[in-house]
Amino acid sequence: MADFCDLLVFTDLDGTLIDHDTYDFSPAFPALSALKNMSAGLVLASSKTAPEISDLRQKLGVEEWPAIVENGAGLLTPFVQQSPDASQYETVRRVLESLPKDLRSLFLGFGDLSVAQVAQLTGLSHAGAARAKERSFSEPGQWSGTAEQRDAFLAALAQQGVTAQQGGRFLTLSLGTNKVDQMRNLIETYRPRHTIALGDAPNDIAMLEFADLGIVVANPAREPLAPLETENTGGIIRTKKPGPTGWNLAVLEAIDRLART
Ligand SMILES: [Mg+2]
Repeated sequence: MADFCDLLVFTDLDGTLIDHDTYDFSPAFPALSALKNMSAGLVLASSKTAPEISDLRQKLGVEEWPAIVENGAGLLTPFVQQSPDASQYETVRRVLESLPKDLRSLFLGFGDLSVAQVAQLTGLSHAGAARAKERSFSEPGQWSGTAEQRDAFLAALAQQGVTAQQGGRFLTLSLGTNKVDQMRNLIETYRPRHTIALGDAPNDIAMLEFADLGIVVANPAREPLAPLETENTGGIIRTKKPGPTGWNLAVLEAIDRLART
């Protein structure tokens, strides 16, 4: 599916390319056009579902690039709006239903909830919640048991090949791949000369460390990330400005530096 490209950029969305509170990304327009002008690739990588990401991918004008969806549990190919196959999600749900009742009842997944309940839980609009429920790879949910019950729950899932990632709000169950696994595959496919990754949260760290240049985008709404592995050697930098404003400046500077090498 790929052409070779010089620069491939991987970016988280919420709190990184998109403002944490207003969902605005217009401050990043200058850097987005600069990337387009040099035919660099832009891969969106988020916990969002395919229908949620494809909408944004279109608005950002990067439909010709794949996107990493559901926190890396799946990949959305260029120019399509929905993953054609939800069998991984069905497997996760089937495993969940096979657990002993006392453990199963402590996890409330999106698949257990109505659109209105997901809207209430996430703060999304009704339409947004409907898109968030259209899952193909992974199941986010709320955990309500003790730490001990959680261990038993995770062990029972692991026996059947289901793993869990703890995010800010939800415990997300999937068959195991994460953002950096998908990033690795895409690098193998596109073979870019340079890679940049941008993110603001713990689930972006592996991606930030794997890229030639990782950019931690400031997010005043959360605890700053602890110092990362390659931060001392210049492999990782941090923006001072938050969200799309920080994203814009850091990407323009990085492009500038690449042009001079
Ligand atoms: Mg984020």
